[in-house]
Amino acid sequence: VLVLAASGGGGLVAYADSQSDQPQGPKKKKVVVLGTGWGGTTFLRNLDSKLYDVQVISPRNYFAFTPLLPSVTCGTVEPRSVVEPIRRILEKKGGDFKFWEAECFKIDPAKKKIHCRSNAGTNFDGNGEFLVDYDYLVVAVGARSNTFNTPGVEENCHFLKEVEDAQKIRRSVMDCFEKASLPYLNEEERKKNLHFVIVGGGPTGVEFAAELHDFVTEDLSKLYPSVQHLVKISLIEAADHILTMFDKRITNFAEDKFGRNGIDVKTGYKVVKVAKDAITMQNPAAGDVAVPYGMAVWSTGIGTRPFIVDFMKQIGQANRRVLATDEWLRVRECDDVYAVGDCATINQRRVMEDISEIFRVADKDKSGTLTVKEIQDILEDIYVRYPQVKLYMKSKQMNGIADLIRTGNGDTEKESVELSIEEFKKALSLVDSQVKNLPATAQVAAQQGQYLAKCFNKMEYAEENPEGPIRIRGEGRHRFLPFRYRHLGQFAPLGGEQTAAQLPGDWVSIGHSSQWLWYSVYATKQISWRTRALVISDWGRRFIFGRDSSG
Ligand code: FAD
Ligand code: MG
Ligand code: MG
Ligand code: MG
Ligand code: MG
Repeated sequence: VLVLAASGGGGLVAYADSQSDQPQGPKKKKVVVLGTGWGGTTFLRNLDSKLYDVQVISPRNYFAFTPLLPSVTCGTVEPRSVVEPIRRILEKKGGDFKFWEAECFKIDPAKKKIHCRSNAGTNFDGNGEFLVDYDYLVVAVGARSNTFNTPGVEENCHFLKEVEDAQKIRRSVMDCFEKASLPYLNEEERKKNLHFVIVGGGPTGVEFAAELHDFVTEDLSKLYPSVQHLVKISLIEAADHILTMFDKRITNFAEDKFGRNGIDVKTGYKVVKVAKDAITMQNPAAGDVAVPYGMAVWSTGIGTRPFIVDFMKQIGQANRRVLATDEWLRVRECDDVYAVGDCATINQRRVMEDISEIFRVADKDKSGTLTVKEIQDILEDIYVRYPQVKLYMKSKQMNGIADLIRTGNGDTEKESVELSIEEFKKALSLVDSQVKNLPATAQVAAQQGQYLAKCFNKMEYAEENPEGPIRIRGEGRHRFLPFRYRHLGQFAPLGGEQTAAQLPGDWVSIGHSSQWLWYSVYATKQISWRTRALVISDWGRRFIFGRDSSG
């Protein structure tokens, strides 16, 4: 239902009003969700749809299972197997949901409106723009690929972020092989066409390199026997190692395996320019090196979307790189706007900012000093509110306080110790160095979406109980715990039916058995039985017939 409204610029703007066609009744609050990726979709699936009037806005009308995108680049898995239409997901839930296929290009927190533009058609006004009101806004728009302003990247490299990107890469790989096979090329030109360069040694770049290597050796070598010996895959990483977020054992295994497979891993090289047919990289020892290439995939990191940068300026976050929320996922300095996933980071509260308050609450007998018992009593609450304290207690640099608490039991000498506020401050002075940003992963985005939906389902309670510096058990019954991330482990598929797995507790497993774990986890994590069936049948088809190489 479109309603006319005067826009700030003086013209008329279409207005999406989802409520005017609803039967009368108490007005539900309007929740607007931006994005249908991991964060947004998980939020929607867990939201109690009876409680709100929900509008979902995203330029793409489906959810994409991103961990399988590298498999799409080589046809191991079909594109349609990794996507699920958002309307189907919403329809299954029932309740008040509206979906608009459009892009938000401006958030107006003062008026509680967002400006959207349809990417499909135009309205009567000719620009396809419309406004949407919100009571609560959930921003889950993910991030953009980051070129770090390296010249030529935008024009000459592929990215691997969306399903379309994976499809384009697949076509481009085949094009390179066909070009290299043409009769009029010399050896040099064939080599150039078959040089595949991947920039970025993170999980995505590594997995793509492994997929491509398998595709070439298992399938393409049979179809292009005359040129297959000319294929070269290079993986360029600016740091000293690839997969730096993984355990050293995995990094070493991956580098060795890639070495044996003939993948040229160039660590310590920074790409400074990408021209149409040569890529220039820099190394302190080697200087500038330009290498000809056939296809390049850029996978070095993520950045903030421009309209989020603009939003950050409006709310006084202009000096930050990433949108900041508190531990309840509320955007800082902005009422009723929440953010989950790759588009935001949690600005973890510092212990040292709250130290006097913590001391005051812990000092139950108001003696002005803390006994070991008093510290122990409050520790669990501190861990919840300030996860860095737990990390710190486990780390090697722990000093006085950790020793005190651990060995306090039964040790009469230590139990009689009492800390003044100055001593307490000193003991915790290094704790905040353990504050860590959560990684930009589907796992984090999904857990945040789920957490936020649970908060929304109990919103009334939350309003009665605003945040306090620490949660005291037995008090403020309905107060929410802050978001807490549970790391369930991480996979790095390395090709040749081998995967590295790093599970909680630094449990590392590498090889064929982890590959089977990977298959089963990824089959289980599928969003619907339909995509699960499709993915499993794709894997089966690949085992029997190999990958499809048309395109
Ligand atoms: P996204 O899932 O990116 O969703 C963003 C949504 O917002 C999209 O629907 C997009 O269309 C929409 N949107 C964009 N702009 C606008 C706008 N202006 N207005 C409205 N909507 C907008 N993580 C893992 O944990 N494990 C893995 O194995 C893994 N593999 C990966 C492989 C690849 C190739 C890639 C690219 C990522 C991988 N990730 C993996 C990371 C994971 O996909 C992201 O961390 C996750 O998608 C973040 O979720 P999100 O909801 O924040 O953003
Ligand atoms: Mg999302
Ligand atoms: Mg996604
Ligand atoms: Mg994040
Ligand atoms: Mg005391």
